[in-house]
Amino acid sequence: MFFELTDLLTCPRCGPASGLVLLVQELEGRRVHRGWLGCPNCRQDYPVEGGVANLRLDRDAPPVARPPVEGEELALRIVALSGMAEEKGYLLLDERLAHVAPDVLELAPELEVIVVREAADDSAEQHGISRVLSEVRFPLGGYQLRGVAIAPGGDRELVAAAARLVGTGGRLVLIDASVGDLEEVERAGLSVIAAAADTAVAERISDPVTVVKLGKRA
Ligand SMILES: [Zn+2]
Repeated sequence: MFFELTDLLTCPRCGPASGLVLLVQELEGRRVHRGWLGCPNCRQDYPVEGGVANLRLDRDAPPVARPPVEGEELALRIVALSGMAEEKGYLLLDERLAHVAPDVLELAPELEVIVVREAADDSAEQHGISRVLSEVRFPLGGYQLRGVAIAPGGDRELVAAAARLVGTGGRLVLIDASVGDLEEVERAGLSVIAAAADTAVAERISDPVTVVKLGKRA
């Protein structure tokens, strides 16, 4: 896990208002191999083991595995639609896209790819990929990410949770998206700028504060 990711993570129990503090036990360069993430509010501790931040609230409960999305040149589509091929910054992938994280990184090596999934897998620790386990979508502060890519497949709650992460000028890439998913994107204040078949990309054009003000006036 990338050291600076700590600034984005929030306590899954307390919600987006509570950030976490990091206690490092083993650091390799700027990556945390082993340590603890602690919530100053509820005092819950979350382990970082083998570079993976485990923010699951019930570590013993069997995780719900969602089937990965298969598709030709999936990583290429994600990178192109996010507009982040040449950029530094965070790009978050959800559970169903997690398997293409290494391919995404190969296409856009300056990125830090954040993978949030419920189920642990046996992926090796890799520079440029921060893995977070969580049954809460998503334990990160709002409006801070440049890119988020998800495969909702009709899961509108997932769309709303992912849209909240996208900062001004940032993009939400949707693979396997339904018409309802795109409605949810617009409801969350993002604008769909391109859509074809089950793939779409949306952008947060105005900042959320402005959206609230305009909404009140109307
Ligand atoms: Zn907490």
